Amino acid sequence: MTFLEHLRCGERLQRLFIDGHWLAPADDAGTAIVVDPSTEAPIASVALGGARDVDRAVAAARRAFAPWAATPPAARARLLDRVHRLILERAELFAQALSHEMGAAIAYARAAQVPLAAEHIRVARDNLAAYPFETARGATTILREPIGVCALITPWNWPLYQITAKVAPALAAGCTMVLKPSELSPLSALLFAEVMQDAGAPAGVFNLVNGDGPVVGAALASHPDVDMISITGSTRAGVLVAQAAAATVKRVAQELGGKSPNVILPDADLSRAVPPGVAAAMRNVGQSCSAPTRMIVPRQRLAEVDALARAAAAEIAVGDPRAAGTTHGPVANRAQFERVQAMIAAGLEEGARLLCGGPGRPEGLERGFYARPTIFSDVRPTMRIAREEIFGPVLAIMPYDTVEEAVEIANATEYGLGAHVQGADLAGARAVAARIRAGQVHINYPAWDPNAPFGGYKRSGNGREYGIEGLEEYLETKAVLAPPVS
Ligand code: NAD
Repeated sequence: MTFLEHLRCGERLQRLFIDGHWLAPADDAGTAIVVDPSTEAPIASVALGGARDVDRAVAAARRAFAPWAATPPAARARLLDRVHRLILERAELFAQALSHEMGAAIAYARAAQVPLAAEHIRVARDNLAAYPFETARGATTILREPIGVCALITPWNWPLYQITAKVAPALAAGCTMVLKPSELSPLSALLFAEVMQDAGAPAGVFNLVNGDGPVVGAALASHPDVDMISITGSTRAGVLVAQAAAATVKRVAQELGGKSPNVILPDADLSRAVPPGVAAAMRNVGQSCSAPTRMIVPRQRLAEVDALARAAAAEIAVGDPRAAGTTHGPVANRAQFERVQAMIAAGLEEGARLLCGGPGRPEGLERGFYARPTIFSDVRPTMRIAREEIFGPVLAIMPYDTVEEAVEIANATEYGLGAHVQGADLAGARAVAARIRAGQVHINYPAWDPNAPFGGYKRSGNGREYGIEGLEEYLETKAVLAPPVS
């Protein structure tokens, strides 16, 4: 059975998951047409919820909160274990859904989008098992308690991964929740809701309301009975959520945009620094918030960097996401495709030097939102392609004369999410890392660490996900003071 037959079979496409049941929307909020970006053809129509559905889901989460918050951590860990196992058992179903709803190459969906999403569940389970919910500070007892009902809003670029990065720590903390995934990628979210049901999540602990940002997202943000809202998305949406949330003084966690630098220091081995830098910028077709899209390189070695970067881009096989050998599928949707094309045009207009790629689709791909892996060199910090998040396969190479200037360029952005530093001398690289204003700095391309806190400085957001910090996002702090027993 294909993932679509599977979803149709249970009438999931017409339902929301509220209070442990698959319900038809109470509001007539219409449908979202899911488009396969590799063909531009509609593949599914998904029912959207409205404000009344948000009320129903929040009420269910509120009713479920006290009993769920009171469950022993070991019971919550058992639920997380079952969720983890089911995601892995259904990995192929998830990979197919992700590939069709946002265009990920199937090999990439199988190797990264699904297993890394499952890792967030495992990490939350492990951290929960060891977490000190009660500590003493002198005579005062410090309790860490679940914050309450959480609204979780996720984007389309890593749909399942962004869901588990929020749901897993919220569950571990003892919170209940309403998830609103991106209306552009709701299929993997429906499969995830099934996993929650089949894993035995008590009714109301996890609810799914599909919907768009202005209706369902805004209703969740302003809802008086939601204690916390966590959004991953654009800085624009993050600001709107914070504004809508302000009157109810709920906690707001924001994981937003990025324009991450990759500083290649003068002592770096370019053959080890440049090709993985190109791969990292282009990973997931450049649709990762922390993609290192500004490669900051020593000016006297620019020609070598350009040659290595061009060769690395030539390794990228753009094509049908389900075909063997494809490393990169299309951009995820039409709006994003048009944005990428507009930014490539802006780079050319502003006089950046095109190394490879450029406007339009790759040769032989007439249909589908396929973009050409594009690298500009000699990019100046004032250019739009150096300042604005593109969220597509476009890399800007920016030369510097001194390390001082390299750090300045790295920090010359309103964002501060990820950063990379390459260098032979680790102490020197660490010294540069210390000067970069970003939430995560990678030196010499380390392995992904699901326990490393992730989040933004500046307009990249507020709060941290992953690891212990990700769990603590969902906790309140209570100090209990009592006179000493005499
Ligand atoms: P988006 O902002 O358009 O949408 C993100 C989510 O917010 C969607 O679910 C959307 O429906 C919802 N939303 C939109 N307007 C809203 C509103 N007014 N109120 C409430 N919710 C609203 O972003 P996108 O295009 O789906 O994702 C791409 C963006 O996400 C990029 O800017 C990227 O950098 C960012 N992103 C950040 C991270 C991170 O961890 N920092 C991770 C992935 C993506």
